Amino acid sequence: MSLQDIENSIRNVPNFPKAGIQFKDITTAIKQPQILKEIIEKIADHYRSKKIDYVVGIEARGFIFGAILAYALGCGFVPVRKKGKLPADVLTQEYSLEYGTDKVEIHKDALNKGDKILITDDLLATGGTTEAAVELVKKTGADIIGFAFVIELDDLNGRKALEKTAEVFSLIHY
Ligand code: AMP
Repeated sequence: MSLQDIENSIRNVPNFPKAGIQFKDITTAIKQPQILKEIIEKIADHYRSKKIDYVVGIEARGFIFGAILAYALGCGFVPVRKKGKLPADVLTQEYSLEYGTDKVEIHKDALNKGDKILITDDLLATGGTTEAAVELVKKTGADIIGFAFVIELDDLNGRKALEKTAEVFSLIHY
């Protein structure tokens, strides 16, 4: 199984959710058992030696990859969710969208100082969403060891800001 096979399994949907966007649909990839396994194994192989304590996954597609990746790495999974979804005490971070702002949250007691963290999502575009997760993790005192994405849209240069914090690893580049 090659990276080309994984790339071929991702469906491109033009003009979703609005005109001009080329939406990278991972549902066609993850429904194939061998592709799902390869995606997780390739990312896990890259980070296995780093002794990660927790994979932090960003709602919603970051939960799919993040939880399986945590299992593969033998570590725990911690969700970063959109505002108002987590039940206990939370830390909140606002971030910019194309129009207006949104907020993401993490449980206050989810991470501890010195924990080694891998942050993951399905796709890196501008990096705004992931940077909000970075701010949340930093507030807990945990250490960000790396970032993992299935897909990176190179032209949007989201990696630039993230690389100031830690290594950025993406399987597929467009
Ligand atoms: P950004 O904050 O700009 O890096 O956007 C990343 C988030 O938006 C991720 O959670 C992606 O799932 C989603 N996203 C952004 N652009 C696309 C795209 N072209 N196709 C699929 N998902 C996207």
